[in-house]
Amino acid sequence: MPTTAPPLSVDLRDLRLDTAVTLLGRGELPPTGTTPAQYLQRLIDGLCDLSLRDPLTGLANRRQFQAVLEREIDRVTRSGEAALLLMLDIDHFKRVNDTYGHPAGDKVLQAVANTLAQCVRPMDTLARYGGEEFAVVLPACQAAFGKAVAERIRRSVAATPVRIDTHTELNITISVGGAYALQWIRSTTPLWTDRADHLLYRAKAEGRNRVCIEEQPDSTVSAEEKGMLFGPLYTPSGWGDLSSMNFNDSAH
Ligand code: GH3
Ligand code: MG
Ligand code: MG
Repeated sequence: MPTTAPPLSVDLRDLRLDTAVTLLGRGELPPTGTTPAQYLQRLIDGLCDLSLRDPLTGLANRRQFQAVLEREIDRVTRSGEAALLLMLDIDHFKRVNDTYGHPAGDKVLQAVANTLAQCVRPMDTLARYGGEEFAVVLPACQAAFGKAVAERIRRSVAATPVRIDTHTELNITISVGGAYALQWIRSTTPLWTDRADHLLYRAKAEGRNRVCIEEQPDSTVSAEEKGMLFGPLYTPSGWGDLSSMNFNDSAH
């Protein structure tokens, strides 16, 4: 005698790929108070979101990041506002895995992702680029401020120890490379990424836990832009004012 599987109760905010496959395989959608068409649409939206997120950190994945980079190059061309791409790589991360195990490494990746997320503006895109590498696209980021923004991010990570068990806290650092997309130089995503990557490698070669950013001629920045970039910012001790901070003594 055939048995019918009980209806699945699924909150689509917690959708996982295997659950979606099960739901679709059944050909029958759970009773949720919505019409089947609405539920299916939400299921498809949930799957689209899943395909753009990194499962470990919840950040944008590389696929979404590539799409954002392409859009940003177009926006820079249209608007004339420079955009900054930062590539960030955790220093000596392999040692974490080798010493404390892979799950501890995963905790570090999640903690660094959280810290980074607190450092960026809503208009910025933060992604896990791969392994222990992250990337941030900062639209409307004038060259005068790029280094300060990157330093703020680097310092926030260095100032936030990661607890991996009840006895152990790890001090984690990152190296950062940064490159601009400018209106008068039409770029491509591989070229832009390569330039930022090159500077990331320079930051590694110069000793790690530091920022290397392309030098660009400064342009006039409006008070509004300054407010957006330097406005209230997160530090481990709360929200502060970046303009009052001194970045000249970065770790060397
Ligand atoms: P460097 O300062 O030069 O960047 O050194 P590194 O040790 O950080 O770089 P390396 O490329 O030698 O090692 C990166 C390590 O990241 C190796 C790989 O096993 C680990 N890794 C990549 N993805 C994950 C992951 O999802 N979880 C964990 N736990 N480890 C990961
Ligand atoms: Mg790496
Ligand atoms: Mg690394």
